[in-house]
Amino acid sequence: MAGEDFSSTWLEARAKFREAASAAGARLAALKYEPLDTLPAVWRSLGPDVPLTIDIALLGDELSAPAMLLHTSGVHGVEGFAGSAIQVGFLRDVAARGGWHRRGVCAVVVHGINAHGMAQMRRWNERGVDLNRNFLIEDVTVGTLPGPDGARATFSALAAQPHAVYRQIYDFVNPQSPAALLAPLRFYALAALAVVRHGFGALKQAIAGGNYLPDETPSSAAPALFFGGRELEQSHRLLAQFMRRLGERRVAPLRRVVHVDVHTGLGPWGKDTLLAIDRDADPSAVSRVSDARDALHERAPSRSGERSSPRACDFALEVSADSRAGGTAYALYGTLVEGLVQVLHAAAGARVERAACIVQEFGTEHALAVLEALRAERALVKQAEMAGEPVPSANHPLRRRLRLAFFPDDDEWRRAVHARGQLLIEQVCGWLEL
Ligand SMILES: [Zn+2]
Repeated sequence: MAGEDFSSTWLEARAKFREAASAAGARLAALKYEPLDTLPAVWRSLGPDVPLTIDIALLGDELSAPAMLLHTSGVHGVEGFAGSAIQVGFLRDVAARGGWHRRGVCAVVVHGINAHGMAQMRRWNERGVDLNRNFLIEDVTVGTLPGPDGARATFSALAAQPHAVYRQIYDFVNPQSPAALLAPLRFYALAALAVVRHGFGALKQAIAGGNYLPDETPSSAAPALFFGGRELEQSHRLLAQFMRRLGERRVAPLRRVVHVDVHTGLGPWGKDTLLAIDRDADPSAVSRVSDARDALHERAPSRSGERSSPRACDFALEVSADSRAGGTAYALYGTLVEGLVQVLHAAAGARVERAACIVQEFGTEHALAVLEALRAERALVKQAEMAGEPVPSANHPLRRRLRLAFFPDDDEWRRAVHARGQLLIEQVCGWLEL
């Protein structure tokens, strides 16, 4: 049953994942976070009283298989409960089939990359960083900054960006306490006004595209919303190190890799959107949109607007183009979904020949309602931090609100996520097995 694969705490999710992995015959690794007393003070008394870990299940021979399925959950903390349930369902299915029998394919299943965010039902990590804007590693990061200099995206280059639009809306996006939150009507009115003033694309870029404001307080638990950080965060240090070692120990090139990274909070309720970033103009990028299309067995729509095969039509890809390629100028740097494959590709022994990098986003509420929940929860954390107190418990209405915005307490939503998540894995495995 789909419902059983979902968990309501990080501890429960981790236990289910590890148990299902063992039953599937997978080998397990656990990447340990720094000790709990190194957390920002606001989190320390909130538990869990065990070291946080990123857990990895390995199926097949990850050192010689010519193809690899890479499946990741929880880069955005609370969103990880959806990805976790998909992974548990997938592993239980492997166990039910008597083990992993995909010819020439290995699977690397990474659970709860932002373990602290999952444990605390937050989207950001313990230092308020958006980990999907933080995977910036000097020698492997793809993409150059838009603008006359066209510099490589690094933390210092990104911090030097003017952040002009974000600075204008800073106070609106980042109130200092719950008391400073606006009444919903006023929030929507001001949001609409900001869209009129700056344009939807510029606003989306300024807010969701991530920011690297150099004047944010170091190691605050609540910097500006969508803060990409000033250095590689511990989750990514651990993960990059694991991936690099794996790559270095490989004995054969990787002919095909598919990376699926599961998220929630964007798009229509209970439906998934498959997203890829177009880096085709960048010779240092290993992922290609055409490979993602092939991995999904996507078919072009026929003239009547209907797809040639109803099954293929289920897996349509939405591509956001890199501004360099003359696209929508919606630039996104430091995303995990390309970063991990680049780390593998850069490691001696694991040259990646073809890579499909796909974000599977499950919709929950309207984008503005989601933003509102994020603002409110950040304001609560900020207030606690300024008062030198612990963050209120997870039962606090604003924290509960945030959880529901990314992890709805709804059986139908959960069933849909569970089914689609596994269907996508099944689909891409067909391409990997060839
Ligand atoms: Zn996300």
